[in-house]
Amino acid sequence: MTTGNVDWHAASVGQLFELLNSSAAGLTGAEAQERLHRHGPNRLQRRKRDSGLLILFRQLNNPLVYVLLVAAILAVLMGKMTDGFVVLAVVVLNTLIGFVQESRASRAIEALTRMVPEQATVLREGGPAEIPTHDIVPGDIVLLEPGDKVPADLRLIEARSLQIEEAALTGESLPATKQVEPVAADAGVGDRLCMAFGGTLVTSGAAVGLVVATGGATELGRISGLLHETTAPQTPMERRLGGLARHITLGILLVATLICAVGVLRGAAFLDSAFAAITLAVASIPEGLPAVVTIASALGVRMMARRNVIIRYLPAVETLGSTTVICTDKTGTLTRNEMTVQVLWTSTGEYGLSGAGYIPHGTLSRDGAQIMDPPPDVDELLRSGVLCNDATLAEASGSWTIGGDPTEGALLVAARKLGMDEAALREAWPRRDVVPFDSQRRYMASLHASPSGGTVVCLKGAPEMVSGMCSSFADGSALQPARIHDAVEEFAARGMRVLAVASGVMAGGAMRLDPETLGQSLRFLGLVGMIDPLRDEAIGAVRACHRAGITVKMVTGDHPATASAVAVQLGLLDRTPGHEVVVGNRLAGTSDQELERLVGRSNVFARVAPEHKLRLVKALQANGEVVAMTGDGVNDAPALKRADIGVAMGIGGTAVAKEAADMVLADDNFASIAAAVEEGRRVYDNLIKSLAFILPTSLGQAMLILVAVLFFPEQQGHLLMPIEPVQILWVNLVVAIALALPLAFEAKEPDVMHRPPRAPNAPLLSCFIVVRTFLVATLMTGGAVALFFYEYLPDLERGILPAAALAESQTVVVTTIIVFQAIYLLNCRSLTNSVWHIGLFANRHVYEGIVTTLALQLALVYMPSLNHLFHTSPLDPEDWIAPVLAGLIGLPVIAFEKRCWRLREQGKRA
Ligand code: ADP
Ligand code: MG
Repeated sequence: MTTGNVDWHAASVGQLFELLNSSAAGLTGAEAQERLHRHGPNRLQRRKRDSGLLILFRQLNNPLVYVLLVAAILAVLMGKMTDGFVVLAVVVLNTLIGFVQESRASRAIEALTRMVPEQATVLREGGPAEIPTHDIVPGDIVLLEPGDKVPADLRLIEARSLQIEEAALTGESLPATKQVEPVAADAGVGDRLCMAFGGTLVTSGAAVGLVVATGGATELGRISGLLHETTAPQTPMERRLGGLARHITLGILLVATLICAVGVLRGAAFLDSAFAAITLAVASIPEGLPAVVTIASALGVRMMARRNVIIRYLPAVETLGSTTVICTDKTGTLTRNEMTVQVLWTSTGEYGLSGAGYIPHGTLSRDGAQIMDPPPDVDELLRSGVLCNDATLAEASGSWTIGGDPTEGALLVAARKLGMDEAALREAWPRRDVVPFDSQRRYMASLHASPSGGTVVCLKGAPEMVSGMCSSFADGSALQPARIHDAVEEFAARGMRVLAVASGVMAGGAMRLDPETLGQSLRFLGLVGMIDPLRDEAIGAVRACHRAGITVKMVTGDHPATASAVAVQLGLLDRTPGHEVVVGNRLAGTSDQELERLVGRSNVFARVAPEHKLRLVKALQANGEVVAMTGDGVNDAPALKRADIGVAMGIGGTAVAKEAADMVLADDNFASIAAAVEEGRRVYDNLIKSLAFILPTSLGQAMLILVAVLFFPEQQGHLLMPIEPVQILWVNLVVAIALALPLAFEAKEPDVMHRPPRAPNAPLLSCFIVVRTFLVATLMTGGAVALFFYEYLPDLERGILPAAALAESQTVVVTTIIVFQAIYLLNCRSLTNSVWHIGLFANRHVYEGIVTTLALQLALVYMPSLNHLFHTSPLDPEDWIAPVLAGLIGLPVIAFEKRCWRLREQGKRA
C-alpha cells in the first residue's frame, strides 16, 4: 500500500476504502494496533517554544550585561586584570543560570498545557469508541460533533450541515461549509470541501470521516515547519518590571554621571571616578529579579495543576489574583451533574419516583400511595424520553454508571426503575434521524420507525419550547398551557430541572427530521422533574469568594425558578427586592448602558443562551470588573476569549471551548476556580515579597557607594570605596539565587482570601514597597558604613598597610550585607504578618537558602583563592559579631514597620 501522493480530496470514497483497506464499519482493534505500530502515534512533533540560542541571546541582551562589560573594560584599562576576568566570569555564570532556569521553566509550562487530554470518537469493532487521539490510525472512521477538534486528516463520508473553522491551517477564521463530493485534484487546501483537516475545529453540524493521514503526515504536520510559533507572552508583572527596569536604568545613568563628576571635582583621577560610577551601576541593577519572576509564575502553574486547574496562558496566573467577578455555569460546576428524576407529571396527575442516584430500583407513587404498574401515559412519557436520548447506562462491578449527558442518563435510570429496558426500546423503535440538544435551541428531537409501521417523532427539552410545538395532551384533549406552566413553576421552585416530552406521528416514511416544519403538530406527553445535588464544596467555595471580595454570578440555561432555588442554597441570592433573577431574553432587549446597570445588580441569570454570555462579559468589563467566565460549548468560545480569564470545563467541555480558554478545570468544579484565585494571589504576594527583598539590596549598595564618593576621605587621587564591583556581584548573585528564590515557595498568607482583590492597575512600586526599600536600604547602609570605619580606622592607626586594611574592611562590609539580608529574608516571608504568625519553620527552602549562603560566605572569607579573586581577607572570629548584631537590629525595626501597616489596614477596614 503506497499512500504517499494520493489526492484524497479527488478520489471517490469507494477508492479510498480500497486504498486504505478499510470500510464504513471501521477497523478492528487488532488492525488498529498493527497500523499504530506501522504509522506511529497520531501526534505532531512539537517544536520547542524558543530555540536555545534565542533564550541564550535574551539573557545577554540586557542592560546589566552591558554595564558589566563596560566595568570589565574599565577594570582592564586600570590594570586590574583579575577584576576584569571575574566580571566576565560573572556575565557567563549569570547567563548560564538564566538560561537553564528559563528553559526549565518554559519546558515545565509546556508540559502542563499538554495535560488537557484529547479524545475522539471512532468506530472500532463495528461500534463507537472513545479513544485518545494519539491512537488514531489511517483507515479509522471518526465521528465528528460540534465543538470537536478534528483529530487527523479525514475524507468525509457523511456530512450534515458541517461547518469547520480552519484558522489553524489557513488563517481563515470564518467557518467553511463542508460536503462529501470529491473536488478537483488541483484544489487548494482551503477548497478541499470534502476534507476535514487535523487541528481544525467543528463549529456546527455532524460528520463521519475516514482517516487518511495522521501525525506528521497531516496537512498541519506538513506546514508546521513554516508556521511561526508564537513566543510565550509576557506576564503583566514581567511587562511592568520591564518598564520599571527602563526607568531604573535611566536613573542609574544620571546618578552615575553625577558620581563621576563629583569624583573628578574632589580630585580623583577620571578612570577612578568612572570606575566608581560603573560600580554604582553594577550595584543598583537587580539582576536576580527576572529569574525570580519567571520561576515564581512557573511554580504557580505547577501548584494550580495540583489543584485541578490547568493554565493554558501564563499571564492568567497573575490576572487570577485580581479577579473581581466570577461568572459560573450552574449544572455540573456548582452542582454534581448527577441528575435524579424525582417527579413525573402528565395531564392525569403527578407521580413521585423514589430511589436516589443511578440505582435502577425504585417505585412510583401517587398522592403518597405506591403504584404497582405505571399508567400508560407515564409509560409513553418515559418511552419517548428514552428514545430521544443518546446516553448509555452500564453496570460494572455492581455499580451503575452513565455515559453521555447526565440529564439524559437520568431518564434512562427512571425508565429502568419502572421496569423498562432501554436497549429493547431502542431496537424496537430504530432511529432514523436526530437533531441533537443545543443550549441555543434548548430541545432535542429524534425520528423513529414505529413497530406498527409508522414514523414517530420524539421531542424533549425546556418546557416552554416543547409546549410551543404542541396543541394537545397525550389523550387528545386540548393543551392547557396554564396548567403546564403552574406545574413547571412548582417543580422549579423546588430546585428541580424540568424537561418536557412530546411526540407526534409523521406522514409516510419520512427519513429526515426538520423541527422547524413541525408547527404545533405534537402531543404533549408530560414533564419530568429531576434534582441535581449541589457539590459539597460549592457552598464553601462561594463563601470563600465572597470573603475575598469577589462577586459570584450564576449563568445558566435552566429555568429561572430552578436557578433561583439553587442560588438561594448557595447564598448567591437573598430574596430581597432588587436582587432579582434576570432572564436571558431580557438581556437581548436591553441597551448596553441598561445592561451595565443590570449586571451590577443581579447575580443570577437564567435561560441564558451562549450569545448572551459575551454581552454579559462586556457589560461587566465596562463596569471596570476583572471577569472570569466559564463555558463548555462551541458557542461559549467568544465569551471565553473576551473574558479576562476564560475558564473551560475539562470533562464536559468541547475542544473549541478549551482552545479559547485561559485555563481548564480538570474536574469541572467551581471550587477549583476559587482555589486558582487563591493560588494566583499567593504567586503575586510572593513576587512582591521578592521585590521587597531584592530592591533594598540594590538600593542599599548604591547608597553605600554614593555616600563613599560624596563623603569618604579621598586618598592621593584615589576614592576610598567600601565595596568593589566584584564583591557587589558576589552579593547580588548570592542574594538573588540562594536567598530570594526560596520566597517563591512561601505558602499563602493567612489572610490571602480575606482581603479584596488587588486593583489590576495598582502600581508595582506601591507605597509599601517604596517605604520598605528605603527603610531597609538605610539600615543596611548605616550598618555597613559604621562597620567599615570601625574596622578600617583602627587598622590604619595600628600601622597596617592601607591595602590590607581595606581588604579586611571591605570583607566586613560584604559580610554585613550578606548577614543582614539573610536575617531580613526571615522578615520577608510575610509582607505584613510577623514571622511567628506564619510559622517560623513553615518554608524549609528559606533555611536551605540561608545555610547555603552562610557556607558560601565562609568560603569567600576563608578560601585563599576566593580571597584573591574577590579582594577579601580572612576575618577574626570576633569580627563576625558586629555584622550579626547589625543584621539583628533590622528585625525589630521591620517588625515595628509591619505593625504600622497592619494597624493602618485595620483602620481602613473599620
Ligand atoms: P445549563 O446551563 O444548566 O447547563 P442547558 O443549556 O444545558 O443549561 O439546559 C437548558 C434547558 O434545556 C434545561 O433546563 C432543560 O430543560 C433543557 N435540556 C437540558 N439538557 C437537555 C437535553 N439533553 N435534552 C433536552 N433538553 C435538555
Ligand atoms: Mg448543560
